[in-house]
Amino acid sequence: MKLKKLEILGFKSFRNKSTLDFSEGISAIVGPNGCGKSNIVDAIRWVMGEQRFKILRAKRMDDVIFNGSDNASPVGMAEVSMILSANGRNFPGEYDGCSEVMISRKTFRDGESEYCINKVPCRLLDVREFLMDIGIGVKTYSLVEQNHIANLIEAKPEDRRQFIEEAAGISKYKGRKEAASRKMESTRQNIVRLADIISEVKSQLNSISRQARKAERYKTLKKGIKESELTLALQAYLDLSEKQKSLKNVHDEITFKSAKAETTLKKLEAFIENLKVETLENEETASRLQERLYEIKTEVNVKEHGIEFSKGKIIDISARKQKNLT
Ligand code: ATP
Ligand code: MG
Repeated sequence: MKLKKLEILGFKSFRNKSTLDFSEGISAIVGPNGCGKSNIVDAIRWVMGEQRFKILRAKRMDDVIFNGSDNASPVGMAEVSMILSANGRNFPGEYDGCSEVMISRKTFRDGESEYCINKVPCRLLDVREFLMDIGIGVKTYSLVEQNHIANLIEAKPEDRRQFIEEAAGISKYKGRKEAASRKMESTRQNIVRLADIISEVKSQLNSISRQARKAERYKTLKKGIKESELTLALQAYLDLSEKQKSLKNVHDEITFKSAKAETTLKKLEAFIENLKVETLENEETASRLQERLYEIKTEVNVKEHGIEFSKGKIIDISARKQKNLT
C-alpha cells in the first residue's frame, strides 16, 4: 500500500483546493517556517479519523477549518481526501480488487464529521477498521512528526511493543480484542444491570401477586355480595308482588263496592227528587186546603152571626109576643 495523493480543501492553511502527488520513491516537502508543512501531516491524521484536537495542534475541533488570513476570508468547510494505491498488493475485504481507495473526511463549523470510503458515506469505525486492516494506525509509527524520532528511540518498552505489534500486523487483532473486551465488559455490566432489574421485577412481582390475591378475594366477596343482593331483591320483589296482588283484590272489592254505593246513591237521589216533587205538591194542596178552611171558617162565622142575629130576632119576637099576650 502506498499514499498516492492527498487533496486538501479548506483545511488549516489550505484555503483553496491543493493536491499533493506522492510519486514513486521518497517524497519530501520543503518550505519556509510556517508555510504549512506540518498542516499536511495534520490533514493525514485528520482524514484517518483523529478525534483529539490537541494532536492536530488545534484549540477546538473547528480550528482545523481555514480561519482566514490577511488576504483571504475564512471558509465554512474543510475536506481532506487521501488516495491509497494497492501498489501490487490487495486491499482487504470488499476493496479487494481496487487499485486505489479514497478515504475522505469533511466537516462544517457547526456539525459532525462525515466520512466516506470511495465516496460512499460510512462510519468512523469503518475507516478505522479499513486502516487497521492495511496496517496503518493513527497512534503508532505510520506518521512520525517533527521531534518524534526521539520519541520512537527513547520509547518505553511497552510503547515500543506497540510499534512492533503494528509492524507485525497484529495491532488490528489487538484492536479487535480490545473492542471485544469492551463489549464483554459492557455485556457484563448489562448482566449486572439485568440482575438488578430481575431482582427489582421479582420484588414487584411479589407485591403484584399479593395485590392479585387481594383482587381475587375482592372479586369473590363482591360476587357473594352481588348474589346476596340479588336474592334479597328477588325476595323483596316476591313480597311486593304478593302485596300488590292482595292490594289489587282490595282495590277491586272497593271499586265494586263503590260502584254499588254509587248506584244506591243514584237511586236515593232519584227517590229524594221524587219526594221533593211530592212534598211540593203536598205543600200546594195544603195551601189550597188552608185557603178553603179559611173560606169555610169565614162562611161559618157569617152563618153564626146570622144564627146569632136570628136568635136575637127570635128572642125579640118572643119577647114582643109575650108582651102582646100580656
Ligand atoms: P515549521 O517549519 O515551523 O514547522 P510548518 O511549515 O510546519 O512550520 P505549519 O505549522 O504547518 O507550518 O503551519 C502553520 C501555519 O498554518 C501558521 O501560519 C498558521 O497561521 C496556519 N494555520 C493553522 N491553522 C489555521 C487555520 N485554521 N486557518 C488558517 N491558517 C491556519
Ligand atoms: Mg512544522
